[in-house]
Amino acid sequence: TGGVLSFSSHINALGGSIVDIRTQSRYMETYHSLLDQGEGRKEGVHIDLSRIEIEFRHVWFRYPNQNEYALQDINVTIPDCSRIAIVGPNGSGKTTFIKLLMGFYRPTRGEILLNGVNLEEIALGQLEELFAPVFQDFYITAYSVRENIAFGHEPEEGGEEAIWRILEQAGARDAVEQMPGQLDCALSRQIDEDGVQLSGGEMQKLAIARALQKGAPVLILDEPTAAVDPLAENRLFREIFNAVESNTVIFISHRMASTRFSDKVLVLDQAKLVEMGTHQELLKNNKLYAEMFHQQADYYI
Ligand code: ADP
Repeated sequence: TGGVLSFSSHINALGGSIVDIRTQSRYMETYHSLLDQGEGRKEGVHIDLSRIEIEFRHVWFRYPNQNEYALQDINVTIPDCSRIAIVGPNGSGKTTFIKLLMGFYRPTRGEILLNGVNLEEIALGQLEELFAPVFQDFYITAYSVRENIAFGHEPEEGGEEAIWRILEQAGARDAVEQMPGQLDCALSRQIDEDGVQLSGGEMQKLAIARALQKGAPVLILDEPTAAVDPLAENRLFREIFNAVESNTVIFISHRMASTRFSDKVLVLDQAKLVEMGTHQELLKNNKLYAEMFHQQADYYI
């Protein structure tokens, strides 16, 4: 009887494992399809990364299995070294614009050109080098500050001092200086009892430092400062713009005060690019941007 019982419980366990393997392999499928995306593209076109001009030409985009377009007929040229702010109500297509630019999705219609070359033809390795994004759902690991920022690729010039400089530009130097072990301090107590637990704002600054450390030609900030106060955000943007003088910065922010530092503001509304210009020009236009700006001004007063 013991033998039969033991046999049946093992068979049960085996059944459970088979179900488990099948469930996990569904996740692996997604992972493999991500890895396979680059297949057949490895020999793509190489462009000059020292100067990047971005152009959206009649770009339309609809997410898979959706009826509505998330972007409609977007036309815009972003010259090298621009500071571009993207604003608009929730769901207007701001993040989608960024996802298309980075090649996560292909436009349903139209094309995106980098230095005149269609994004889909550019070598995948180059696309990875091109952008340094900070998304809203960035991830800080339980390892040290140094590892979180440099991922083992410490700056060739300047070594540790270069990391401190980057932390300063991202507004995180003071916080790291006060940590036990400083650059070697673990960013959680999960694997190191002496680790520290950072606040949301501090984590965002470290995520920005990580992006700055990459030194990519195009820095992308998708509401990176939601967890810091408006004054700190202003300071941070100014620091970042100084730090990456020779790069393009594209940022999404809900705080209209930061858009003042940009060369051009793109205003999206219901999937369309409804306004484009400098902060002053758009205030004069007296349309959606001006309305959003005045609403916030009232709120701060
Ligand atoms: P924003 O960044 O301006 O808040 P998004 O670009 O995130 O707006 O979204 C634009 C539109 O696309 C919204 O209507 C949103 O619901 C839809 N959308 C966003 N992501 C997806 C997705 N993965 N699948 C389907 N629809 C999506």
